[in-house]
Amino acid sequence: MKLKITTRTLELKHTWTISRGSSDSKTYNFIELEDEGVVGLGEAAHNIRYDESLESIHDFLQEAAALLKDANPAAFFELGLAVNQLGMGQQAAKAAIDIALMDWNAKKLGVPLHRILGLQSNKTPLTSYSIGIDKLEIMQQKIIEARDYPILKIKLGGDDDEAIMHAVREVTNKIIRVDANEGWVDRNEALEKIKWLARMGVEFVEQPMPANRLDDIAWLRQHSPLPLVADEDVKTARDIPALAMAYDGINIKIMKSGGLQEAWRMILLARSLGLKIMLGCMVESSLGISAAAQLSPLVDWADLDGNLLIRNDPFQGASVKAGKIILPNATGVGVQPMM
Ligand code: MG
Repeated sequence: MKLKITTRTLELKHTWTISRGSSDSKTYNFIELEDEGVVGLGEAAHNIRYDESLESIHDFLQEAAALLKDANPAAFFELGLAVNQLGMGQQAAKAAIDIALMDWNAKKLGVPLHRILGLQSNKTPLTSYSIGIDKLEIMQQKIIEARDYPILKIKLGGDDDEAIMHAVREVTNKIIRVDANEGWVDRNEALEKIKWLARMGVEFVEQPMPANRLDDIAWLRQHSPLPLVADEDVKTARDIPALAMAYDGINIKIMKSGGLQEAWRMILLARSLGLKIMLGCMVESSLGISAAAQLSPLVDWADLDGNLLIRNDPFQGASVKAGKIILPNATGVGVQPMM
């Protein structure tokens, strides 16, 4: 297998702000895995939150290239494990390789990837559409522009939460999911906010408090009127058993898990522990999103909107119609480069 690494800059339609910070563009590593004339595509939407950078991902990919050079891409299960063992972390790099391997295999067999997994394209869920933190008038404008999406995800976790929710409710009565992105530090403060959000018609709250505070989350869950969903607290299957005592659900992202194969294992494990499952994403092109969408018939909630935030998406693939994820018919993860 030949591995080619390129970098691309994704320009965002609006400055993207969450409780951690802001950005106007994202520059990521993208890969092409070529063997026997078939090319598998992968994307590494790295995240500084997990100690990943453009350089650290690039270094990992180069190390993996040596491992993949003489390997058989059809042995994707074994190869995925070997890539995982190259080192701790750098999950986005592992994800890029796994996406490319799965894309390659489904293309080689001439079918869309979800067919290999035994999933039906008509079983995809609705996706929420995320509204980043902004001036209240701009958030309201974004909500009005998101008229095609029946479910919205609102980013909170700062000092303006109440003003934001009032502004949101002024312009919409849609289902609202809230992501605090670790923003509420005190559990009593978190509980007060959650009780108030329940009265504002919110469906659930994602990562209300900083990661690694499972005792506080377990306490919060005992008192919370809303389900609590882990995001920053969960990366791979290894994290899940401990979370089942504290959370109602988990947000799986292929860029955190290290790819589709680990996300699949996480879905099976989370189900066996009675957890609800959300499939989320980073800001990603349609390549990463279309790969994740292949697993979406398996989950309760989807938040696969990262590509919708980009002005210059380099790929075309999965789409959204009236909020429902539409899987492409094409082979592999189903993306075509945009000319
Ligand atoms: Mg989140």
